[in-house]
Amino acid sequence: MKTNVLVIGGGTAGTMAAIKAKQANPDTEVLILEKANIRHSGAIAMSMDGVNTAVIPGNSTPEQ
Ligand SMILES: Cc1cc2nc3c(=O)[nH]c(=O)nc-3n(C[C@H](O)[C@H](O)[C@H](O)COP(=O)(O)OP(=O)(O)OC[C@H]3O[C@@H](n4cnc5c(N)ncnc54)[C@H](O)[C@@H]3O)c2cc1C
Repeated sequence: MKTNVLVIGGGTAGTMAAIKAKQANPDTEVLILEKANIRHSGAIAMSMDGVNTAVIPGNSTPEQ
């Protein structure tokens, strides 16, 4: 297989990197190699119904 961008691991970091690469250049071929089922891959698949974000005044915001 040939690709322009190869992402190994389809967790949060990998899938976000793939999306950002495609957004940066829609003509770019992006391939994710994931050893698990991509629909259930990554540590976040084990979380419950949401992702908590720590909002620290002066450091992070709800929008982030
Ligand atoms: C129960 C639970 C609750 C959580 N809750 C929160 C929360 O509320 N808020 C928050 O911010 N964070 C939370 N986290 C942490 C968050 O889910 C992780 O920090 C984040 O998902 C890590 O993403 P990652 O892409 O770096 O790694 P991972 O999600 O671990 O992804 C790595 C991927 O690489 C794949 N892989 C590994 N080796 C190979 C290989 N050789 N070839 C191909 N693929 C490979 C794995 O199968 C996996 O899919 C939680 C985690 C857990 C487990």
